[in-house]
Amino acid sequence: MQPHESLLAEEPQLQDLPRITRPLLAWYAENARDLPWRRNPSPYRIWVSEVMLQQTRVEAVKGYFTRFIESLPDVGSLAAVPEERLLKLWEGLGYYNRARNMRRAARILTERYSGALPASYAQLLELPGFGEYTAGAVASIAFGVPVPAVDGNVYRVLSRLLASYADTSLPAVKRAYRQAAASLLGGENPGDVNQALMELGAVLCLPNAAPVCGGCPVAGYCAARQAGCAGDLPVKAAKRARRTEERTIVLIVSEGRVLLHRRPGKGLLAGMLEPANLEGTLEPGQVLQSAADLGANGSSVHFLGNARHIFSHVEWRMGGYLLRSRPFPPPDGWLWADAAALRREHALPSAFRAFTGVLPQYGFL
Ligand code: SF4
Repeated sequence: MQPHESLLAEEPQLQDLPRITRPLLAWYAENARDLPWRRNPSPYRIWVSEVMLQQTRVEAVKGYFTRFIESLPDVGSLAAVPEERLLKLWEGLGYYNRARNMRRAARILTERYSGALPASYAQLLELPGFGEYTAGAVASIAFGVPVPAVDGNVYRVLSRLLASYADTSLPAVKRAYRQAAASLLGGENPGDVNQALMELGAVLCLPNAAPVCGGCPVAGYCAARQAGCAGDLPVKAAKRARRTEERTIVLIVSEGRVLLHRRPGKGLLAGMLEPANLEGTLEPGQVLQSAADLGANGSSVHFLGNARHIFSHVEWRMGGYLLRSRPFPPPDGWLWADAAALRREHALPSAFRAFTGVLPQYGFL
C-alpha cells in the first residue's frame, strides 16, 4: 500500500483502540525493565532520564544517568553547575544543547518554582528544552497528568495497531497520533500507560521487520499483525540526504598536552572544544603548513587513520594526524589541555574519539 496523508480519524480501528489499555498495563506491571530512573522516581530524575534518552539507547544512558545524578542530585545543583563541568558530565552523549537547555530550565525552576518542577503540562512546555514529548512524559510519569508522550516507539506501535499507512512525518498525522494516544489515558495511571507503550515499542514491537508479535500483550487487537504488514510500518517520508564533508583532524601535541580551541557558539557542536579541524582531505605537507600557521614547529606528521561521524544533517569523513611540536604559546582562542584537564574538566565530542582515543599509545595520557 502507498503512504497516504489520511488522518487517523479515518482508520476503522481507532474507536477500539482504548481496549488495549488493560492488557498493556498488565503486561507492563509484569515486564517493565528495571532501569535506574525507575528506582526512586522523582520529577527531577524522570526529567533527566527523558532528556538523556532522546537520541540515545537505554543501555548507553544507564551509566550517564547514574553519574549525572550523583554529581547533580537536584534542580539547584544543576542550576549552579559551571558549563564546562556540565558538558564534561554529558561528554559522549552528543546533542550538547540538551544539557545546556536543562541548565537554563533549572535556573528558571530555581527562580520561579523554588527549585521544583511544576505539575502542569502547559508550564513545563514553557521551559527551555521541553517539547511536547518531554513535557508529556514528565507531566504524566511524575505527576499523573493525563497527557500523551509520543516518541518514535509509540508512533510505531500505534501505526501497527491501526495498520495505518499515514505518513508519520506530517504534522497533522502526528497530532492525530497524539489524540489516539490520549484516548488511552482515561484511567488512573496515565504515566504507566505512556511508559507501557514506549516499553512495548522498545522490547517487542521492534523496528523494521522485527516485531516479536508472539509475546505481545495486544497482538489480538493489532490490525497490522492480522494483515501481515507490521514490517512495513510506520510510514515515514524519506529524510533529506545528509551532506558529506571531508575534514582533516590534527592532534598537535607538546609536552603531554594537546592543542584545542572552542567551536563557534552556534551550529554543529556549538561551543565545544576540538583539536585542529581543517576543511578538506589534506596531504601531510598541507597538514604541516596548517599546523605551522598555528605556531607549531614539528617536522613530520603521523597518520592516525580515517574515521567518520554521522550527525543528523551532515556526515564528517575525517582523516586524522598527530604532530609532535616543541612548546609554543597557543594562538588566540586556543588552549593547551593536559591529560588531567581532559579527564576532569574538558569535554571532547565523541566525533573525535577515533583519534583522541589513540593518544595513550603515544605516551600522552
Ligand atoms: Fe507490534 Fe506485533 Fe504487537 Fe502488533 S502484535 S503491536 S506488530 S508486536
